[in-house]
Amino acid sequence: MLTRLIYASEATDPLTPDSVQTIVTQARQANARRHLTGMLVFDHRAFLQVLEGRREVVSEVYGRIAADKRHRRLVLMDVLPVDERLFANWDMGFAAADALGREQFLRFGGSDSFDPHSMTAAAGLGLLRALSQHVK
Ligand code: FAD
Repeated sequence: MLTRLIYASEATDPLTPDSVQTIVTQARQANARRHLTGMLVFDHRAFLQVLEGRREVVSEVYGRIAADKRHRRLVLMDVLPVDERLFANWDMGFAAADALGREQFLRFGGSDSFDPHSMTAAAGLGLLRALSQHVK
């Protein structure tokens, strides 16, 4: 069964661009092996991530992500069965939140800054889809 999961979290400590890149590179490699697709957004503090794949795989990987000490305040925003992938072209797309800017944060989140903890799952998904247009 194909499943989509969305969560928000925040970095435990300030992350350098190199440490964020390490997370993205590892995630891309691991996800490609598991046929997991998705998108990760980061803005110096907050993360917003969507994962799509087989239910068992999404569940297992989310368990490992949730145990990762590099972030905290994990909020599971949504997990649901889906008919098709929305992020089929990326093993794990990545974008800095400021690629969109204030106008889109207001459109999706009702705030002029990136604050995924205050977003609904639908708004988070909308933002992730908009940001996915900015990544290769
Ligand atoms: P191990 O590799 O055994 O690591 C154990 C713990 O060590 C980790 O939980 C972490 O706290 C720490 N650790 C591991 N590597 C580093 C490092 N380079 N620097 C500092 N501490 C480290 N994994 C995926 O497979 N797919 C994803 O989509 C994905 N997305 C992620 C998104 C975020 C925001 C974060 C923070 C991590 C993500 N990860 C993802 C990584 C995931 O959390 C696990 O680290 C990874 O799956 C390996 O799991 P493991 O149990 O083998 O941990």
